[in-house]
Amino acid sequence: MSTLLALDQGTTSSRAVVLDDTLRVLGSARREFAQYFPAPGLVEHDAVEIWQSIHDVTLEALAAAGVGAREITAVGLTNQRETVVLWERSSGRPLHRALVWQDRRTAGLCEQMTADGHAALMRERTGLVIDPYFSASKLCWLLDHCPGARARAERGELAFGTTDSWLMWQLSGGRAHLTDVTNAARTLLFNIDTGDWDDELLARWTIPRALLPRVVGCAEPLFDISGLGDLRCPVAGVAGDQQAALFGLQCFDAGDAKCTYGTGCFILVNAGTTRPQATGGLLTTPAWRIGGTTTYAVEGSVFMGGATIQWLRDQLGIIAGAGDVEALAASVPDSGGVVLVPAFTGLGAPYWDAQARGLLIGLTRGTGRAHIARAALDGIALQVSDVLDAMRPALAAPLRTLRVDGGAARNDLLMRIQASLLGLTLERPHDLENTALGAAALAGLGVGLWPDRDSLRAHWHPERCFAPAEFALDAGLRRRWRRAVERSRTWATDDA
Ligand code: ADP
Repeated sequence: MSTLLALDQGTTSSRAVVLDDTLRVLGSARREFAQYFPAPGLVEHDAVEIWQSIHDVTLEALAAAGVGAREITAVGLTNQRETVVLWERSSGRPLHRALVWQDRRTAGLCEQMTADGHAALMRERTGLVIDPYFSASKLCWLLDHCPGARARAERGELAFGTTDSWLMWQLSGGRAHLTDVTNAARTLLFNIDTGDWDDELLARWTIPRALLPRVVGCAEPLFDISGLGDLRCPVAGVAGDQQAALFGLQCFDAGDAKCTYGTGCFILVNAGTTRPQATGGLLTTPAWRIGGTTTYAVEGSVFMGGATIQWLRDQLGIIAGAGDVEALAASVPDSGGVVLVPAFTGLGAPYWDAQARGLLIGLTRGTGRAHIARAALDGIALQVSDVLDAMRPALAAPLRTLRVDGGAARNDLLMRIQASLLGLTLERPHDLENTALGAAALAGLGVGLWPDRDSLRAHWHPERCFAPAEFALDAGLRRRWRRAVERSRTWATDDA
């Protein structure tokens, strides 16, 4: 029997999972690490602590699975995307804490880049929008704020990477400076048509090429591990977290879509092997590159998904736990005309309105907490529908199914509302965390454990499907939602 190890380096925790060659979990371990908030809007991680956490959970997961390090056939790696690490090649020492994707310190630089007319070219070449979320502006900040960094970067003394690169550097004992296409594509420096770093983009951001890792595919043997205990097998699978989840949920064909209902909702649709032209706030991104062929995805994110339910629990106190929302919301036939637009931190795709604010409207003397709970579930599902509806024109193949995971996907009522709104069947697996599963599957493919992707399908078992016809929606729901979203928009601007 072959055994795989998946390393899942997330935003708040690191996780290691040991799986067999049918992708069954044999053991796992998780460890949280510190979040540093030096000032409002700034978010940092300690890269050394991240590596230490990966090191420790690997040993714990092996022990939990009762598997020896030498029994592992291949390692798959998946990670929080966009977060920037800058380190010294000679010592492997980071020059600064990692700047996390959530960090907004480079908003001014991004506004300047947009004002200077760089947005169209960046959009065309990278599939992204200019935003502090992506790596380039954060790397610029580090080069400008770490003493001597720019000159040292020009001399080739420094290395840049997202956390996949950083971990591969550590796992290889400082020999491998690599990143995979899905992580490279989150930097605003990578050309998704040529599949390589883009000199013109590097020039516009004034980033020296000598800093950059070599870009590799998502399922191929990369190097043999020498930096973690007795592990000696190859790292053979790498992908950013959302792409790994798309792969883990086996959305292998054009038109296959997934939504992860966590704190936010992350929606990716497999768009096939021809690059799609996504518009508005939707992103075009490589889903994976396997055997030299790139598969593309269209991506959109909703900021407040399951976090809306946390708000009901922590701020309103109308439920004791997230699991209580379903029974409360199901105790009424509909929201009684109440609409909740969860724009607490602005609206993400497809609106991209940072000044929008949350709105609860349609209240009457008869409104109770059950109506508000129901409106919260409607609001999550309606936001996801808006993203998928905006994606449809960019897709070569029609949407086929929506596979779901994340903590809030265990809410059956939310899933039924969602299926009905989309007119699509939802498929929910047993395991609601598919990121590590995707990394393991990529690694197994990378070492030829299975002949092709189709051989993996035998290991996919939906726990439950939700058909659109199962559930009748309140007729006025969409129309009321549209009107409420319009009222929520630009609210903070009007307030100023
Ligand atoms: P993340 O990975 O972003 O931390 P998880 O996938 O662990 O998120 O999911 C946690 C989120 O799911 C929380 O925001 C929580 O409020 C929500 N959640 C958990 N259970 C339910 C439920 N039964 N119904 C709706 N939301 C839920």
